[in-house]
Amino acid sequence: MKKYIAYLLLIFILRGDGVMTFYKNIKRIENPEDILVLVNKNNKLDSTYIPKDLEKISIHYAHEEKYLRKEAKEAFEKMSEEATKQGYHVVAVSTYRNYEYQANLYKNYVEKKGTEYADSCSARKGHSEHQTGLAVDVEGENKDYDLFENTKEFDWMNKNAHLYGFILRYPQNKTNITGFKFEPWHYRYVGKEIAKKIYEKKITLEEYLKNPF
Ligand SMILES: [Zn+2]
Repeated sequence: MKKYIAYLLLIFILRGDGVMTFYKNIKRIENPEDILVLVNKNNKLDSTYIPKDLEKISIHYAHEEKYLRKEAKEAFEKMSEEATKQGYHVVAVSTYRNYEYQANLYKNYVEKKGTEYADSCSARKGHSEHQTGLAVDVEGENKDYDLFENTKEFDWMNKNAHLYGFILRYPQNKTNITGFKFEPWHYRYVGKEIAKKIYEKKITLEEYLKNPF
C-alpha cells in the first residue's frame, strides 16, 4: 500500500506542471540563425551568439535604440505602421538582449524575489529568446508593458500579429509547455506562414516544432 501511494505521488510530481523537466537535459542550440530556432528552458544559446543582421527599429515604433534581426525588424515596423494608421500604438520596449544583459536581468530577479519567482518570469542566461533578435516586448497606450493585457493594442495584436509573422509566445494555459507564465507583451517572429498555422491551431512554438505541418 505504501509503495502504491509513493508511486501515485511520484506520478503526480512528475506530471505536475511539467516543471520538473525545465532546465534539465539542456541541449546546445545548433541552428541559432534559423528563423524557427527554439530557445527555451531546455535549449540553450552559446554565450558568444550574436545575430549578424541586427538592425535598429525606427524610433517611431521603439523606445530608444532597439534592435531586431532584419526580417523581424521590417515585419515589426510594418505591423506598427499599420497599427498606427488604425489608431493604435504598438511600441517595442525590449528587443535584442545580449547574453550578459540577460544574465544580469535574471540575477537581479533572483536577488530580489528568489529563484522560483525569477524562473517564472525571466530566462536564465542563454535561455532567452531575446538573444535571438527575433523577440519583442511591446507596450500600448498605457505605456506599461506589464499591463499590456488591458490595452486596446493587446486586442489588436491578438487579431493581427500573425499577419505580420509574429506569435504570442507565452499564451495563457500553456505554462506547462513553454515554462513561462502568460506574457501578453512578448511576441516572437517566426514568419507569416508558420505564424498563421500556430495562430489558427492555438498552439505554441514547442508544439508546432514537435509536429510541423
Ligand atoms: Zn520578452
